[in-house]
Amino acid sequence: MAQGPERKRDSYEVQIAELDAALSAFKETESDKELREWVRGLGEQEFFKKGIEDASLDPGAFPREFLQEVAKVGLTGLEISEEYGGTPMTNLEQAIVMEELARIHAGLALSILVLNSLTAYEINRFGTEAQKEKYLRAMAEGRLFAAFALTEPDAGTDAKNIQLKAIYDEERNGFVLNGRKRFITGANGADVFVVATRTGAPDSGEDGITAFLVDSDLEGISIEKVEPKAGQPGSPLCEILFQDTFVPADAILGKLNEGWYGVFDPTLKHSRNWIAAQGVGLEQRAQDLALGYSYERKAFGGYLKDIPVHSATVDTLRIQAGIARALTRIAAQAEDSGDSRFFALSSLSKLIACDTAAMNPLEAMQLHGGIGYSLEMEIAKVWLASPVLRIYEGTVPVQVSIAKKGGIKKETMRLLTPPKLSETYLVDDIREIIHPGAIAFALREYELAGQAEK
Ligand SMILES: Cc1cc2nc3c(=O)[nH]c(=O)nc-3n(C[C@H](O)[C@H](O)[C@H](O)COP(=O)(O)OP(=O)(O)OC[C@H]3O[C@@H](n4cnc5c(N)ncnc54)[C@H](O)[C@@H]3O)c2cc1C
Repeated sequence: MAQGPERKRDSYEVQIAELDAALSAFKETESDKELREWVRGLGEQEFFKKGIEDASLDPGAFPREFLQEVAKVGLTGLEISEEYGGTPMTNLEQAIVMEELARIHAGLALSILVLNSLTAYEINRFGTEAQKEKYLRAMAEGRLFAAFALTEPDAGTDAKNIQLKAIYDEERNGFVLNGRKRFITGANGADVFVVATRTGAPDSGEDGITAFLVDSDLEGISIEKVEPKAGQPGSPLCEILFQDTFVPADAILGKLNEGWYGVFDPTLKHSRNWIAAQGVGLEQRAQDLALGYSYERKAFGGYLKDIPVHSATVDTLRIQAGIARALTRIAAQAEDSGDSRFFALSSLSKLIACDTAAMNPLEAMQLHGGIGYSLEMEIAKVWLASPVLRIYEGTVPVQVSIAKKGGIKKETMRLLTPPKLSETYLVDDIREIIHPGAIAFALREYELAGQAEK
């Protein structure tokens, strides 16, 4: 039997039995429930309703007013230490917040995510005192917004291959930036960008990438395009051009030439579970809508809910949402407990939650029949919001590879993966296609049927 670190590694091989144990150990505490209720209640407030309306009227606009209100309730400071005006939360609490925000509106939730897990997190963790003073309090108070600028036209999944150049200018003791960033959420409203730049050769012994905090009003910066996205209004997707943009040397975040392993990689590892939680919220919304509609729509002399094939669909959605939710909790708890290998669980949670989020809204739309395809119905918007979760912050193959490297077995991933569309109609009992332990967990812990919002 393996000993010491080897033993620990073994214990990370999330076998089905261990996973079952982890799933059944999870219970939501009273304070978790209160937090969940509180965030859910925000959806009823005027600022949120207005944010949703504004986003649908102008999907490419930066939701500044909305985010200022979000700051007032403390939700832009979740990654910021109290000494800089933040309202820090544990990873588990953050997952609950993100899930409930995405259940209200996935696009606006993504804008809130960027301000927390992708930008404030890294400034709070890797910034100098001066950088923290300059940015964090203002971010927590909703006076300043940030965007995370890693992806380039020729470097997405292959992010370590970014080419935006930062050349040292000795005379001015700073760097001159030239290049392009693509698909940057919220760049058209951000006051500062965390920019990944190429400052050295990748084989120089360091990673040759440097992170800079670049104020968006510097000379030579322009927003070249706002992508017309298929879904998720309220989180505009932008292309940024840097042309001879000078940034002082003290704008480096972390260390010169050590930006990948020192800043971007740990940030992405942390933020991944936020995306998983966004997936859980989105699929929960799809489920709420499907369930609500099944009580409304009459067919064959009864309601849809009474037709076995439809009730089986709703059950499948419930179970899958429960499994995905549990995985985000397990990953969050691992990170909270300081376990350095939490990242493999986060990749697993992102993989499963986002796969489920991509599939379940389609199934929920199907349950609505033809009217589900109308953009006047919320389910159509939820569906349009969903597939991209399998893409941003690391596509599906990337998550599989990280999870595998972290010791999660392929078999575990396969058993947790949502069933293929139509598979649920072809078996008599969904237990045949979804892992029984996970079903038991999902059914026991979440009585979601009563929570449908009609
Ligand atoms: C809505 C949205 C918001 C975003 N927000 C941000 C943001 O705020 N900041 C930011 O920096 N980026 C952001 N992105 C960029 C996003 O992270 C990238 O789109 C994503 O990482 C994929 O990169 P790519 O688009 O270049 O695709 P590519 O890397 O070109 O991938 C194309 C396909 O090839 C597959 N593939 C690539 N390499 C491999 C491999 N080695 N093995 C197997 N398959 C592979 C991919 O899985 C994918 O299916 C956002 C993207 C979207 C759509």
